[in-house]
Amino acid sequence: MIFRQSLFAFASFCLLSSIGYGHYPENNAHVYDSLSLKTGITEAQFNDAIDQVEAFYRPLYEEAFGAKLVINRNWRSSTVNASASINGSTWTVNMYGGLARRAEVTKDGFSKVLCHEVGHHVGGYPYYSSRWAAAEGQADYFATLSCARELWRDQLAANAKFRKSADSFAREKCDDVWDSEEDQNLCYRAMMAGKSLGELLSNLGGTEANFDTPDQNVVTKTATRHPVGQCRLDTYMAGALCEKEWDPSVIAGKQGSNSASSETKTLPYTCMTSQGFDGYLEGVRPSCWFKSVLN
Ligand SMILES: [Zn+2]
Repeated sequence: MIFRQSLFAFASFCLLSSIGYGHYPENNAHVYDSLSLKTGITEAQFNDAIDQVEAFYRPLYEEAFGAKLVINRNWRSSTVNASASINGSTWTVNMYGGLARRAEVTKDGFSKVLCHEVGHHVGGYPYYSSRWAAAEGQADYFATLSCARELWRDQLAANAKFRKSADSFAREKCDDVWDSEEDQNLCYRAMMAGKSLGELLSNLGGTEANFDTPDQNVVTKTATRHPVGQCRLDTYMAGALCEKEWDPSVIAGKQGSNSASSETKTLPYTCMTSQGFDGYLEGVRPSCWFKSVLN
């Protein structure tokens, strides 16, 4: 397996579209960046968000997956992107100041980008075909379904602030699914972080993304590359609205396999519509990128 992973050492998977699988973002937003910009988040917030992800995931990577998590803090770089790669047992995330300085990016939105990159490593099925990395949509789904919950679950006071400030439509959706005030607050926060990121991705793609205008596209086969901004916001929402509890010590699904047996392994941790399973209406991976192979 190590040999197989090392074959893919040159492949990295990003937050935004890239040419091939390299580090080269299609967007040219870096030309608008400057270290003197006061938009987005501060360097201290950039480091703090990374510290939090490292504190939770570094021991977990080691204990559960036998891997070393390395997060590179490229604050001075103007790159408006982030990426994940694997080389043997070293699993790397690259974060860039150019992304952190974008006006749309809140600290929670930035944390969600970190979660997306971690999701490429450990977010499971569906995968980029025959590769180690979770598909883009799955990395987004994992970001709110698992990672944001793990990071913020105990931050009750911070979560509670979203009861007043969160978008009313997002609040209603959360209240439909979650009964306890604590779960609702966490859901509001995850939704608003998704909005921060959805806006960034939409602006870079020249589109719009709103809570109440879901993407109507229906794919006939799972799309593994970057969905449009609206579809990605829909996915962040779905993760926040799925009542299942992900197990962060499990990579659900057989690595690199998009088979029915791989999808079946994710059923304990994800919400599915179709069934013999659980028949969830909310919290399912959106059909703008995901197509179940079980029906
Ligand atoms: Zn990605």
